[in-house]
Amino acid sequence: MSQLNPSVDTSAVPVVSIPVRELAPWALFIALLALVALYFVGAEQGATSLISGTGVHEWVHDGRHLLGFPCH
Ligand SMILES: [Zn+2]
Repeated sequence: MSQLNPSVDTSAVPVVSIPVRELAPWALFIALLALVALYFVGAEQGATSLISGTGVHEWVHDGRHLLGFPCH
């Protein structure tokens, strides 16, 4: 890109390195949140339901159809 526009000096942009040791807990936290969201969207109904009633199912119903989970 800098070859196309010689007035932009990309060498002045600082490179920030994030150590894996600092990144790993956040990656684990995001993965757990994603798994919880995937459970509630994909499996929270019927025999696998943790919360009684249809409130959770109705709340995530559009996301369920958007992601292609079987519903009705
Ligand atoms: Zn549905």
